[in-house]
Amino acid sequence: MSRSEKAGRMTSGQIVSLGQGHDAGVFSRYSEANIPTEYGTFRVVCYRERVLSSFDGESSFKEHLAIVKGELRGGEEIPVRVHSECLTGEVLHSLKCDCREQLDHALARIGKEERGAVLYLRQEGRGIGLGNKLKAYALQERGVDTVDANRMLGLPDDLRRFDIAAFMLADLGVRSVTLLTNNPLKVKSLRAEGVHVVRREPVRIEPNVHNVEYLRTKGRRMGHELMGHPLDESKASDVEGDLAAGSSATDPVATDAPAHDTGKRPVSAIPFPRRAG
Ligand SMILES: [Zn+2]
Repeated sequence: MSRSEKAGRMTSGQIVSLGQGHDAGVFSRYSEANIPTEYGTFRVVCYRERVLSSFDGESSFKEHLAIVKGELRGGEEIPVRVHSECLTGEVLHSLKCDCREQLDHALARIGKEERGAVLYLRQEGRGIGLGNKLKAYALQERGVDTVDANRMLGLPDDLRRFDIAAFMLADLGVRSVTLLTNNPLKVKSLRAEGVHVVRREPVRIEPNVHNVEYLRTKGRRMGHELMGHPLDESKASDVEGDLAAGSSATDPVATDAPAHDTGKRPVSAIPFPRRAG
């Protein structure tokens, strides 16, 4: 699809990546520096993704971060969190979700390791953007759950893409990862992008009174594993039974599975407008 075709099929206010997959020139390593944090000093690497705005048809950049501990090149089973931006959770300390706790957990966990990385992807609100996320929250105030709220707005449950994460890991020389996530679909999505995920490590977050229903919905309707805390009985992980099975602290998933074993279409192969439908 040409750039103009893509622009023509976008609805107002959308920004679309100019490249699905690892097209040369769409993703690039841009800058890096050391940043001391309360979890230790990380090498923070900025990657740029060329995107196209439907407002003016101009291309610009989305900037994503690899927050790196140690030297990753050639590394196997590197602990990695692929984390999507959540301004309301991480900056405002919103109690409606568990994003900040998951990010903090990952930085603390990886800060103690010899090497590892948090990939911080700029895709707010499972990719629908900040403004649409607030619209969905407004619907939730009227009793609609997080999945139905998106549908009522004509938006998909999840617009996130992980091709940039695959690019970052390849650029950093990572050979295989232990993925810190409760979301089995994220494992599948990354594998579809060519990332060798050796195992999944759950991230245990205690719910609060504001996010307990949100977390239940993620478990019941989106296949998230809510391992080891009181929401367990509400999960219905039949969606991803193979990954959800088992209750050990570390959940090995198909250690020898090839990267493209999911039988699903790679995320990068789905045109943006169709995912918006
Ligand atoms: Zn959040």
